[in-house]
Amino acid sequence: MSENVKLRPEIAALAAYSQGRSPSPDGFKLSSNENPYPALPGVLEAAARHAEINRYPDGAAVALRTRLAERFGVVVDEVVVGAGSSALLQQLFLAAAAPGDEIVYAHRSFEAYPGFVTVAGATSVQVPLTAALEHDLDALAGAVTERTRVVVVCSPNNPTGPAVRAAAFEEFMTRVPADVLVILDEAYREFVTDSGAVDGEHYLGRYPNLVITRTFSKAYGLAGLRVGYAIGPARILSAARATAIPFAVTELGFAAALASLEEQHQRQLDERVTEIVRRRDRLRGLLLEQGWAVPAAQGNFLWLPTGEQTPTATEAFFAADIAVRPFGLEGIRITVGEHESIDRILAVTGALPR
Ligand code: PMP
Repeated sequence: MSENVKLRPEIAALAAYSQGRSPSPDGFKLSSNENPYPALPGVLEAAARHAEINRYPDGAAVALRTRLAERFGVVVDEVVVGAGSSALLQQLFLAAAAPGDEIVYAHRSFEAYPGFVTVAGATSVQVPLTAALEHDLDALAGAVTERTRVVVVCSPNNPTGPAVRAAAFEEFMTRVPADVLVILDEAYREFVTDSGAVDGEHYLGRYPNLVITRTFSKAYGLAGLRVGYAIGPARILSAARATAIPFAVTELGFAAALASLEEQHQRQLDERVTEIVRRRDRLRGLLLEQGWAVPAAQGNFLWLPTGEQTPTATEAFFAADIAVRPFGLEGIRITVGEHESIDRILAVTGALPR
C-alpha cells in the first residue's frame, strides 16, 4: 500500500506546476507568456547540427557561459546557465535557504516561487503588491527578518505587468542587509520600454548580494528548449551550480542559445520583440478605451482585472478558443501573441461586464 510510504507532507500536498488548458489547433495559446513566432531557421539549423545525442552535454556549459560573460562584461564564473530560469531560481533558493529560513517575495508574482520555497523546505513570506499592482519595495525590505535568506524582486512583474523603478530598487538595496541574497528576476527584461525601469545589467559587480536571472524562453522564443541564465557573484553562483541536476541543459539548447546571440539572429529577434511591444501597447490602449484598468505593462503580457467574474471571463475566452491564465477572483493574464488574436481578445473583453 503506497499510503504507508512516508512522503514529506508539504510536498505530498503540493500541486505540480501546470500550464492549464490548451486551445484548439486553430485557437490562441495566450496562457504561458510564450513568444508567438516560430524559431528562426538559422537557430533551428544550429541546434540540428548538434546531433550527437548519444553523448552527454557539456555540464559546465562553457561555450554559452563564455559568450554571455563577454556580452555582459563579466567573467565566466559570474554566469551560470540552467534548465530555464525556473531551474536557476530553485537552485538559488536551495543554495541559500534551509528549513526554518524565510524567502520573501511579492504576491501576486511568479506562481512558481511558492513551490520552489516549499521544495527547499523554507518558509514563504508574501508581501502584497500596491493598489497599482506594483512591487511594494518598502514593504519587501520591511519584511526582512534575521531568518530571511532570499528576497526575490520580479521586474516586470508576472502576472500584473509593471516594472520596478530603478531609483526605488537602489533605495531598496541599501535597506536589505548584505548577507541576504537578492534575486532580480528579469525573465521579461527585453520587453521593457520604460527608461526609468530597473535594469539588472547596470548593477553587475556593484552589489555583492545581487543575482539577476534571465531566460531564452521569452524574447528569444526558445521556451521548449529550456535555457536560462543567472549573473552575479561567483561564490553564490558556484553554490547554485552545486544544487543543479547534472546535464539539465542539452547541447541543442546550448546551440540554439548561442546561435540566437549571433548578430544577424539577434537583430531579427529584436525586431520581433519590438513588434510584440507595439502590439502590447496597442492592445493595452484599446482595453483602457473599453474601460479596463489594465496596469502599466512592461512584459509580453497584460493583466485584465476581472475580479469576481474571473472564472466566467476565463470561460468566455475559452469559448472564443483563447487560452488565458486566470488568477483566483482577481484577474486574467493575457499573453501578447499573434497579431490575429488582438481583435478576438477585444471582442471577448468588449462583451464582459466592467
Ligand atoms: N520568472 C518569471 C517571472 C516567469 O514568468 C517565468 C516563466 N513563466 C520564469 C521565471 C521561468 O521561465 P523559464 O524557466 O522558461 O526560463
